[in-house]
Amino acid sequence: MENIFTSGEGTAKLKQLQQLCDAAGTIAILGHTNPDGDAVGSGLALWGFLKARGYDARFFLPNHFPKFLHCIPGTENAEVYIDNQCQPRCDARDYVSKAGLVICVDFNQIRRLEKLAEAVEANTTAPRVLIDHHLDPPPYTLNFADTSYSSTAHIVCDLIAAWSSPEAITPGIATALYVGMSTDTGNFSYGNLTPELYRTVAMLVERGTDPVDVSKHIFGTQTEHRLRLVGYLISEKMTVREAEHTAWITLSRDEKHRFHHQIGDTEGIVNMPLSIDTVAFSAIFIETLEHIKISFRSQGDFDVNLFAREHFNGGGHRNASGGRFFGTMTEAVALFEKIIKEQHP
Ligand code: 5GP
Ligand code: MN
Repeated sequence: MENIFTSGEGTAKLKQLQQLCDAAGTIAILGHTNPDGDAVGSGLALWGFLKARGYDARFFLPNHFPKFLHCIPGTENAEVYIDNQCQPRCDARDYVSKAGLVICVDFNQIRRLEKLAEAVEANTTAPRVLIDHHLDPPPYTLNFADTSYSSTAHIVCDLIAAWSSPEAITPGIATALYVGMSTDTGNFSYGNLTPELYRTVAMLVERGTDPVDVSKHIFGTQTEHRLRLVGYLISEKMTVREAEHTAWITLSRDEKHRFHHQIGDTEGIVNMPLSIDTVAFSAIFIETLEHIKISFRSQGDFDVNLFAREHFNGGGHRNASGGRFFGTMTEAVALFEKIIKEQHP
């Protein structure tokens, strides 16, 4: 199968990656803050592959990931950098700052590692490799970035098959990759749904993943609190501006507390207003201790990567992006309303 690793340039870059791994001694694989299925799945799959080939590798995430991702075998190998007292773990800081090679998966800006970014910046000697599908990557030593992929997990899958063979994909790695692919495409309902993607999924099923089981855990299971939170947000907290084809939802810290909010509970909610026939742009504003975290989604031509970059210190993809606002919820929404009056789908 043709892909970014099978062209002449791709083969040369893959060889370079193998040489960097051989020379590294230790390899730190890093995923982004508020890890989603693609960050955890692609990181764990790459970690599992490199470990099986005898490399000294560890996989770090800046903070905790949602419970439903525990359906991936071996999630205990995804090491969360910040402990329960919000302190960086000393051994992890040491490992990352002294690693011989740093590999970033599913994000391209080091600042998205938050506290973990300090450990990476302290490492001034390690080459940095990027494996990602987001827009506008800054320069890395070696770059496997391609926005035509619907998930980073699909890139990692092609990488493993090109480096070794599909036989190197164990049932655990197959499930990690499948989780990345299915979550970043909304269970294969949006994004770049190419024949190539379905061929790769077929191969992962052959290698031992169970799509029914994964779907049940990821898309078909939630707590009662989460379901009630969804009902409340849609019924009470959603504003629809028909003239601007825009809808948004807000969630305060008090409301999170009231609905026993856990990490992952708000995942997917921002997509829901897009099912309204007049809405092409949707946002959710979530209050955290540090800032207002915002997610943007669009359908059609409206570029939410640009929108997040220009106005809310963020970025992402054309139809799915995120950002943050430093100030109150009222100020964040007021700014958003002001902008969408001038700039909307
Ligand atoms: P989500 O809304 O699910 O957090 O993120 C949607 C997409 O936007 C993801 O691809 C994510 O990586 C990206 N994204 C989310 N927040 C930020 C941010 O603060 N900065 C940048 N550059 N990208 C973000
Ligand atoms: Mn992704």
